[in-house]
Amino acid sequence: MSGPSSAAASREGPWRAHAARIRGITPETPGVQTYELEVEDVLVRDRYRFAAGQFNMLYLPGIGEAAISVSSDPAGRGTIAHTVRAVGNVTDALARLGRGDQVFLRGPFGTPWPVGEVTGRDVVIVAGGLGLASQRAAILCLAAGRACRSVTVLHGAKTPDGLLYAREYDTWRAAGVVVHTIVNEADRFWGGPVGLVTDLLAHAIGDPSAATILCCGPDPMMVGVAEAAIGRGVAASDVFLSLERNMACAVAHCGLCQFGPLFICRDGPVLPYARIAALMRIPQV
Ligand SMILES: Cc1cc2nc3c(=O)[nH]c(=O)nc-3n(C[C@H](O)[C@H](O)[C@H](O)COP(=O)(O)OP(=O)(O)OC[C@H]3O[C@@H](n4cnc5c(N)ncnc54)[C@H](O)[C@@H]3O)c2cc1C
Repeated sequence: MSGPSSAAASREGPWRAHAARIRGITPETPGVQTYELEVEDVLVRDRYRFAAGQFNMLYLPGIGEAAISVSSDPAGRGTIAHTVRAVGNVTDALARLGRGDQVFLRGPFGTPWPVGEVTGRDVVIVAGGLGLASQRAAILCLAAGRACRSVTVLHGAKTPDGLLYAREYDTWRAAGVVVHTIVNEADRFWGGPVGLVTDLLAHAIGDPSAATILCCGPDPMMVGVAEAAIGRGVAASDVFLSLERNMACAVAHCGLCQFGPLFICRDGPVLPYARIAALMRIPQV
């Protein structure tokens, strides 16, 4: 675990799971919590580096492993955050744990968001629901660095209580990030727009030749965002999607996450739309 995307190449190898303690649990939205994990081995903890958009495999002995994006600031040291929705074996068991309990993790794995390649550009981060978890690290990174010209976050959720990290929006805005939210269904307290996150896109893309789109959410939503951005003049190579596929090994051995000629654990999860547009149109892939 010595550098971004280097778990597979590290001396310990990609299979080595490291013990970690849960140091904090923050409830986010219904069924979703953020876990602050501290790797127990001090040397491993100090060496651990990840890039925004990468994921770890969280392992609960006797139960299994799940791929979970790292949601904390890549510049942060000490604890590593994961925002997790309880949906199955591992994530339900994780939700039953408390502070001080032990989990295991290996990683980081996968390709990152291109946050190092956006100097002078207008970055538009488009998130559907929990997709924002994979982008929070990029938001924190870009807000701190300011190498890009602007950062806009467009976040859509089914209902207002599904908007992720809502308590952080003021801090993001104070750092110069523009944040717009939209919901599919309003409640009586909601005063914002109602619709799809794609409805927000038109206003967020000023100069299409300077726009870089980072999108994460359900596949149909991502295709809709990508096609809408391209329709407004953004190059397909400047649209990046983070794909979620069922995966097990995280090192391109098991084939579970195969996507045409790609393995999402190795070649993704972040991929330029130009590379995957044709594959995204084939339902069987
Ligand atoms: C790169 C990557 C990053 C991810 N980041 C996060 C994250 O930050 N937070 C988070 O909560 N989840 C994230 N996920 C999703 C998470 O890995 C799955 O929900 C995981 O399977 C949950 O494990 P489980 O054992 O609790 O559920 P399981 O018992 O394995 O699965 C429950 C049900 O969901 C289905 N399923 C499992 N995984 C997937 C999948 N990836 N796509 C479609 N269906 C699936 C299963 O077939 C089953 O029906 C990510 C997935 C990937 C590939």
